[in-house]
Amino acid sequence: MDQITAALLGWYDRCARVLPWRGFHDAYRTWVSEAMLQQTRVETVLSYYPRFLERFPTLASLAEAPEADVLKAWEGLGYYSRARNLRKGAQQVMAEYGGILPRDPEKLKKICGIGPYSAGAIASIAYDVPVPAVDGNVIRVMSRLYGIRTDALVPETRRRIESLAAALVPAERPGDHNQAVMDLGATVCVPGTPDCGRCPLSAFCNACKVGDAADLPVLPKAKPQKVIPYAVLLVRSGNRVLMRRRTENLLNGLWCFPMFEGEFTPEDLHRQAQKKLSLTLSEPVPAETARHVFTHQIWQMSIYEASAEASAPAPDGYSFIPLDQLDQLTLPVAMNVAVSILTR
Ligand code: SF4
Repeated sequence: MDQITAALLGWYDRCARVLPWRGFHDAYRTWVSEAMLQQTRVETVLSYYPRFLERFPTLASLAEAPEADVLKAWEGLGYYSRARNLRKGAQQVMAEYGGILPRDPEKLKKICGIGPYSAGAIASIAYDVPVPAVDGNVIRVMSRLYGIRTDALVPETRRRIESLAAALVPAERPGDHNQAVMDLGATVCVPGTPDCGRCPLSAFCNACKVGDAADLPVLPKAKPQKVIPYAVLLVRSGNRVLMRRRTENLLNGLWCFPMFEGEFTPEDLHRQAQKKLSLTLSEPVPAETARHVFTHQIWQMSIYEASAEASAPAPDGYSFIPLDQLDQLTLPVAMNVAVSILTR
């Protein structure tokens, strides 16, 4: 076994994080944990993971569940396409593999929602297949360990990182090895200034020797997110509120209040909203502002309240939802401030 791999596994045996998705071989559970962990902090996933598995204990139960139920179990975790793809992928596994996730990473990659990273993680952790699982943590550790100082996202560099990561994966305990690199990246070789004094790899590490670990990996400058102003309108009609199930890619299938892109005076909003919703409304009253940050955009929301007649029919594409049934729908975190106004 490579000296680096041996040092890593020795460290993992002493310092591995105790996490509920570790310590057993169950490809479905590994898949759920990896899907939840993408773009999401471990601390957040810790509360969602057991609840999700209680609700959908088997791959078959997830495949059979209505999409709305799966989104509800995912509510607040964000990046909802992960939940939709997990369900679609489970249906695919039922149809193509009799409900058992394949062990071949190439077959895994063809399942909806499983990319190269998740395929490597599932194959190595659940089935002991010696393949790497390269995510942002691994890119950072490999760049520093081997002193890679070219843009880590350029295909040529990326391939080099993947082949260096692959060369380290041992035939025995490949899953533990991959999880050791993940843990090292999350707790020691962290973004910014790493804690090289605590690192089991410091004796082998190029960046540690050169002294530029804080500058690695080299990544292209992230584009600033686009800030989009919205007026969010809470339209009450008796004890109901007007909502729409989104059909856009972002937050697809989740319920939001009517939103109008742009900045408005209450009069302008009144005019626009009545026209677009084909409803007679009271003049909107400003209530609160809220901001929600997505990966590529920021919603800067001005929330208004207005009312329609108690018997008003919902416009096309919208529904009036009784306020006491609001908690049965899946709403994105972006609507939290608006919901808090309704439940005051
Ligand atoms: Fe990262 Fe420092 Fe360890 Fe190198 S020695 S892998 S830079 S923590």
